[in-house]
Amino acid sequence: MTNHLYDALFAPHRDNDAVFLRTGAGDAISYRAFVARAAQIAAVLTGAGVGAGDRVVVQAPKHPDMLALYAATLQCGAVFLPLNTAYTEAELSYFISDAAPGLVVCDAAAENRLAPIAAAAGAALLTLERGGAGSLQTRADAADAGVATVARAPDDLAALLYTSGTTGRSKGAMLTHDNLLSNARTLVELWRIARADRLIHALPIFHTHGLFVAINTALLAGAEMLFLETFDRDRILEALPAHTLMMGVPTFYTRLLADARLDADRCANMRLFVSGSAPLLAETHDAFAARTGHRILERYGMTETSMITSNPYDGARRAGTVGQPLDGVEVRLTDADGNPVPEGEVGMIEVRGPNVFKGYWNMPEKTAAELRSDGFFITGDLGQHSADGYLSIVGRARDLIITGGYNVYPGEIETVLNALPGIAESAVFGVPDADFGEAIVAAVVPADRTAPPEETLRDAVGAALARFKHPRHYWMLEALPRNAMGKVQKAQLREDWTARSA
Ligand code: ATP
Ligand code: MG
Repeated sequence: MTNHLYDALFAPHRDNDAVFLRTGAGDAISYRAFVARAAQIAAVLTGAGVGAGDRVVVQAPKHPDMLALYAATLQCGAVFLPLNTAYTEAELSYFISDAAPGLVVCDAAAENRLAPIAAAAGAALLTLERGGAGSLQTRADAADAGVATVARAPDDLAALLYTSGTTGRSKGAMLTHDNLLSNARTLVELWRIARADRLIHALPIFHTHGLFVAINTALLAGAEMLFLETFDRDRILEALPAHTLMMGVPTFYTRLLADARLDADRCANMRLFVSGSAPLLAETHDAFAARTGHRILERYGMTETSMITSNPYDGARRAGTVGQPLDGVEVRLTDADGNPVPEGEVGMIEVRGPNVFKGYWNMPEKTAAELRSDGFFITGDLGQHSADGYLSIVGRARDLIITGGYNVYPGEIETVLNALPGIAESAVFGVPDADFGEAIVAAVVPADRTAPPEETLRDAVGAALARFKHPRHYWMLEALPRNAMGKVQKAQLREDWTARSA
């Protein structure tokens, strides 16, 4: 019996005594122990009636058993569906009724609240907790690890991963065994991930970055991983000298930079820092290189496609770009009619390859609208190619501002503002305007509590950009609203602005 993804990620480690995980508490778990634990959990799942194709919904703490549950779900031929730990009951109720799972696994603390929701969906409910005493865990402790692996083909579903909900309601992306495996193989090769690597893992594991990019590659390579529950700056600084690899969102890097203990000595053993999920400011990239000697490698991807492009391992890692398409992945830039844009112009990023998902769960119209008949997926992101093929993300098509008939890309204005002394970051967005269709608002976060005078900002933008791109309003904020992945929530900003001006 073959199981495409399980056989590549987990089965090879059945007799591997190397360390797979080191927890924040200092426990070491070998590959062998991990695979055996996953098999015990698989036996519990089978006992709970989970079979091929069934969804297993998980909202649980970042714990080794949650990862083992991922392996177990695949071993049973089922579909892994992890959810953001920040989701509220109302949100969970939507996800669970949408996904119609066979089993829901949650933190013991949420059991009473989730029981009626799981029951309404006809799903069994088990718990997983940090202390190891959840019902899934105690049943697994007593289970036999000799469970059979259910056969799965490359095109069968492995995961149903909901998008981050940055632009609207989260959509369930149907990812196949080969979507995940092909992408992980490409990244291992490109980023040279090997058995000798020791990865610092501080990302959540309910999202493609922390779960698939980081963990599938570590598993394929047989690398070791420091498995931290959250981003803990002290712990990471302490771990850097003994590790070789880190994957993070841009805020990880700005937070590390804010600490004087980050320096080249501390990073001497590090081989690679990777950034993604949101744009890494060129200033951050440069400051990090100046301080540590490491050029952060920025890559671009999304839930629906896993990774799409990456800066090179050996060649120039260019700040402000996301590099070139991965091997086997095609990228094209198109206009509103779907035709390729002339070279060097901004266009919609479309992508095709073995990484592209099967469609949105329960959303056939949306799937049809975003997947072209020739297999290209319309990402919703706008991009631009340099003459030598580096892609820059200009922003989301939805965030494009049309004012007085002109297209304005918020990123262009943000770049000017972010480069000013005294400005930490900014987010530019459009709001309805009777005269112009949309008016431009710039939300600006000062680097320290005293903001530069608005005059200074107006002058700088005035000197750099055409008049139709000048923000009508400047709005000083202490911080930008971000979701769990560090993504700026412009929809939230628009709402807050409207509420404030009402
Ligand atoms: P939703 O689709 O629900 O609105 P989302 O698009 O934020 O949410 P994800 O799939 O987690 O959900 O994020 C993918 C998006 O993240 C990409 O479409 C892109 O806009 C952004 N992104 C990822 N990597 C980068 C990067 N390196 N630079 C800029 N943006 C990035
Ligand atoms: Mg998206």
